[in-house]
Amino acid sequence: MSYLRNDPTRFTDELTAGFVRANGDLVRRVEGGVARRTRTPETQVAVVIGGGSGHYPAFAGLVGPGLAHGAAMGNVFASPSAHQVYSVAKAVATPAGVLLSYGNYAGDVLNFDQAQERLNAEGIPCRTVRVTDDVFSAGEDEREKRRGIAGDLVVFRVAAWAAEQGRSLEEVEALAARANDRTVSLGVAFSGCTLPGAEEPLFTVPAGRMAVGMGIHGEPGIDEVDLPTAEELAHLFVDRLLAERPDGADRVAVILNGLGSVKTEELFVAYTTIADLLEGAGLTIVEPEVGEYATSFEMAGASLTLTWLDEELEQAWRSPAYTPAYRKGAGGLDLAAGEQVDEEAAAEEAAAEEIPPASDDSRRAVGRVVRAITAIRETIDREADALGRLDAVAGDGDHGIGMQRGATAADAAARDAADRGAGAGTTLALAGDAWADKAGGTSGALWGAALRALGTSLGDDAAPSAERVAEAVAAARDAVTRFGKAEVGDKTLVDALVPFTDSLAAHVGNGEALAVAWRAAAADATAAAEATADLLPRLGRARPHVEKSRGTPDPGAVSLAQTLTAVTAVLAEGGDE
Ligand code: ADP
Ligand code: MG
Repeated sequence: MSYLRNDPTRFTDELTAGFVRANGDLVRRVEGGVARRTRTPETQVAVVIGGGSGHYPAFAGLVGPGLAHGAAMGNVFASPSAHQVYSVAKAVATPAGVLLSYGNYAGDVLNFDQAQERLNAEGIPCRTVRVTDDVFSAGEDEREKRRGIAGDLVVFRVAAWAAEQGRSLEEVEALAARANDRTVSLGVAFSGCTLPGAEEPLFTVPAGRMAVGMGIHGEPGIDEVDLPTAEELAHLFVDRLLAERPDGADRVAVILNGLGSVKTEELFVAYTTIADLLEGAGLTIVEPEVGEYATSFEMAGASLTLTWLDEELEQAWRSPAYTPAYRKGAGGLDLAAGEQVDEEAAAEEAAAEEIPPASDDSRRAVGRVVRAITAIRETIDREADALGRLDAVAGDGDHGIGMQRGATAADAAARDAADRGAGAGTTLALAGDAWADKAGGTSGALWGAALRALGTSLGDDAAPSAERVAEAVAAARDAVTRFGKAEVGDKTLVDALVPFTDSLAAHVGNGEALAVAWRAAAADATAAAEATADLLPRLGRARPHVEKSRGTPDPGAVSLAQTLTAVTAVLAEGGDE
């Protein structure tokens, strides 16, 4: 559990403020995260990392010379939104371009990809290297599906070293990708973790047992064994990782990582055997790291990472670094060597967004739009705990709190837009942006995209007739499937959204009033969401836990059906507004 907090919903904001306050000589706060206090030299590629909070020193603690130029910071265990990644990248980008690097999780992929598209569209060259070091999350033949855990550190170090050498974006990308290809990790856990403000741990490990194959978000382990001794754990780690030793690899970087509440002293106890076994296998260990590099809040666990070094990777691994949490060799903030402190800092607060003009017809509908979003928020507030438990079965347990953050922000943004005279379309679009920014995670990005598409399609001119609403819902479905790439049957919220869209169109096509058609379509969505219990996940965080998920409906589909049902009541209210 966490001990120190104020309002749990402000946890990430407050930890970021404190982190920057304590490390103001090295980093500055920018919209969406933190950046080096020095400006990126004009010809240098900027390395932008990121992910959820709760993994300290990943990611904010790894910003500084020899490591990242900026880190996008999401809420605890939730991806930063595309807008946050984009903002951090903009704050550090140069004409040489931006390399995005982060652990391979569905929510991060979605949001970082969207940020990359936007940067490229604005003429800032941007490439991505996803870290996929966790050998337990997918087989060697499906490396690209593996999750990223403590191997992040090696890949970030290599990318930053190449960037600081003045290499081109393509070269930085290639070397970082090589570091990732040659990095493998395995994690275990002895107990789960409890997010700030939550009552229950995300998962538990029975006494005397150890979960094997941990992610860093409290995803349950993939296997479970009797609690080993430190020596036995060292054997388990090394045997499994040596199975992926490439031909000719004889030098390794080693990271023995604590996940949160295992003491570094305990890691040292295990390290001796690890070193013996690696050296016994003919490997030379290069500058090992034993401590906390990527944590999972206060989870009790550990992971071992090996990077099969070649000459260049070794040079990068040994190079100096100077960040809040990672310091090595002769680094330091080299102001004398011409790096400039960026005084403009994050000063460019975006001017309050202009509200486009709207017709009276559209504005008359805004009251109902706001009430619909309020109804969504109230439903999510009521269901949040249950949704979290549903997500904890095979995911990371954050679906309830993520949806709650999103719906709360959307509700506030919708009211604000309405007060400022927005039409129905703009109200929905701004609610969507707020949702994506605050919710984080996969579902947050998709809900944000869906609401924005709904609003864009409805527009601010005509009154939202049943036909227009059905069309707008189809546009939202298209945005979700284009963006998330899930199909019906993948066990995601798409399994509720597609039947809802089809059913709404059919009922409206029969000439039914919107409220009547919506009620029927929401009932179909509810049945479809329940039916996802029989499906096996093919995407998202639940994918490595295929079997655990059988018999449990998809949390994203369930919450979507619940909110669609809540909107029915608002549409059924009489009157014009
Ligand atoms: P995260 O997976 O990042 O923890 P949440 O827990 O908030 O995010 O949301 C999980 C839900 O997101 C899943 O139950 C599923 O419905 C939905 N989801 C995950 N991946 C996709 C995708 N690619 N397309 C559509 N929906 C998805
Ligand atoms: Mg989740």
